[in-house]
Amino acid sequence: MTSDTKNRGASVAYRNVEKRYGAFQALTPISLEVDSGEFFSIIGPSGSGKTTLLGVTAGFIPPTTGQILVNDQDLVGVAPFKRNIGMVFQNYSLFPHMNVAENISFPLRMRKASKTEISERVERMLDMVRLSGMGDRRPNQLSGGQQQRVALARAAIYDPLLLLMDEPLGALDKNLREEMQDEIKQFQETLGTTVIYVTHDQHEAASMSHRIAIMNAGHIEQVGTSRELYEHPRNRFVASFLGEANLFEVVESENGPSGGSVVKTVQGFRLRVAAALPAERGFVACVRPENIQLSSDPPNADNCLAGTVIDVVYAAGTIRYRIQVHPDFVITQRLPAERQMQLFETGGAVHLYWDAGDTRLISET
Ligand code: ADP
Ligand code: MG
Repeated sequence: MTSDTKNRGASVAYRNVEKRYGAFQALTPISLEVDSGEFFSIIGPSGSGKTTLLGVTAGFIPPTTGQILVNDQDLVGVAPFKRNIGMVFQNYSLFPHMNVAENISFPLRMRKASKTEISERVERMLDMVRLSGMGDRRPNQLSGGQQQRVALARAAIYDPLLLLMDEPLGALDKNLREEMQDEIKQFQETLGTTVIYVTHDQHEAASMSHRIAIMNAGHIEQVGTSRELYEHPRNRFVASFLGEANLFEVVESENGPSGGSVVKTVQGFRLRVAAALPAERGFVACVRPENIQLSSDPPNADNCLAGTVIDVVYAAGTIRYRIQVHPDFVITQRLPAERQMQLFETGGAVHLYWDAGDTRLISET
């Protein structure tokens, strides 16, 4: 253990990591690389395998097949406590009978560090998580946010090469969660350690991470920066999981004369697309709510639809409309209040329009 040199953090490579429970595949073979010092988030619906992936990384869950290379060394079969990996859970898992300092120092005491080293490191950690002077308190004398900071300090005190966090802020209310996001981010930058962070909150992942992986049904759908995933979703699942998307089933399609294309949707709408048709078959047309404009008069635009406002919500400076454009289809439109050209009320007739460049054709699978 080197005390003050900046920990560079481990690189992690998953090679065809699979986990089966009988016939059920909790992880289909996963291959993924996380860089040294990266803040890497995993998001996905409940049951998609996020906790299982952290579990095989930490060593609590043996994978059925595959390799997990941490700094090029395969950890499969290595006992969890020998992996030099720190872990933070949603429920804090602090020892209730130990005070804060004893909780934080626990991993060092297990590793038989000297008394001086322990007290120096505990002080440094208390300082880093802004709990100086609270070393004597019991966990039940701390707020939820403070308890989570103790858990963070305990996971990081022995300079692990890798920190795994499983929905660590899930139990906190929104304001505290945002404050803790900034703290954890700073903490990671100071330590330099690699973090793999699981959350079901896409805003949290976007605000903290270098890159994000989206999991679904035991596999990874796509890896990228928050912006790449939002602007270039690889398939329908990613497009609808991140943010909001208006997705139209396409029944007919043809390339236009000037490089673009036209698709006919199952509702009978003809939509103009700036890009040519994709080579592979099976795609949907996607329009993001913030790319749609509304007007009371019929507009002159690439794509126009008419409908009736069924719902208006004003929240945090944004106005979000839901507009029925077909008996079976509702479109969501959303813009900052000052960018909404006109205001409409529930029941009002409205025209929607958007540019051909904002109709994206996205693979079904
Ligand atoms: P997430 O963390 O994304 O919500 P999990 O990794 O906890 O998902 O679980 C993935 C899937 O694996 C779920 O369908 C879950 O029911 C299943 N699973 C997890 N542990 C076991 C187990 N010990 N035996 C059988 N199935 C399990
Ligand atoms: Mg989970």
